[in-house]
Amino acid sequence: MLNEKVAVVTGASRGIGAAIAEKLAANGAAVAILDIGNLEAAEALKGKIADNFGVKAMVYQCDVTDSEQCVEVVKNIVSEFGKIDILVNNAGITRDALLVTMEEENFDKVIDTNLKGCFNMIKACGRNFIRNRYGKIINIASVSGLLGTAGQANYAASKAGVIALTKVTAREFGAKNVCCNAIAPGFIETDMTKDLQNGEEYLKSIPLKRLGKPEDVAKLALFLADEASDYITGEVIRVDGGLAI
Ligand code: NAP
Repeated sequence: MLNEKVAVVTGASRGIGAAIAEKLAANGAAVAILDIGNLEAAEALKGKIADNFGVKAMVYQCDVTDSEQCVEVVKNIVSEFGKIDILVNNAGITRDALLVTMEEENFDKVIDTNLKGCFNMIKACGRNFIRNRYGKIINIASVSGLLGTAGQANYAASKAGVIALTKVTAREFGAKNVCCNAIAPGFIETDMTKDLQNGEEYLKSIPLKRLGKPEDVAKLALFLADEASDYITGEVIRVDGGLAI
């Protein structure tokens, strides 16, 4: 389905990013696996992708908060793969605390990674998409950005920002045949959520009565990367088992 397509996934060494990189590769895309530091895991994923799906995969160290690094890595990817068709902005962090006790540094760090990181990568890839008159940008937001989850002032604000950025990007790039959509996951079982005490509490609010898996998000990312979604842009789709209905 994605044969001949080149996908870039940020924060792809583990969790949702790794599942998305694998899913796109399983459907024929060549994949650039970007990660800030866990390069051993990224290399292992690259090996798995090459062995199982026979598509090209490369690992790039990239801190999405560093705009110059983003530009440099995108340049290297285009020189290695020839182009970029799909950008998945997945890299993200949490630093939860109640608003009155939240360290300013932790507010800034979360905004820098989740929101500015997304902006940095869209900007770095922008000319490539415009030149090619083609692109699928998929931003990983969160239901927290829709609901304003208590204890997540920094995270919820960053993800609400990602949703607004998605809509702006859809408007600005639409005439160039570039689609931009956001996925808003609910509670997905990854390292990010493994220490949350209230996982069982969440279950009570989830109509589908199970926590999500990275694969649940990856399936939607595949749809948004594929021509099946060619007339969808500026949309925010929840993958949350109904949590935020
Ligand atoms: P995760 O398991 O903690 O993985 C996060 C990934 O992002 C890691 O690979 C990490 O790299 C990378 N990363 C962090 N900072 C980075 C930076 N500055 N530059 C580049 N990469 C960076 O998290 P996850 O649960 O898979 O979450 C993935 C995305 O989904 C995030 O945007 C998150 O906000 C969103 N999301 C998750 C849930 C959930 O319930 N899990 C719900 C809603 C939304 P290292 O491995 O090197 O640390």
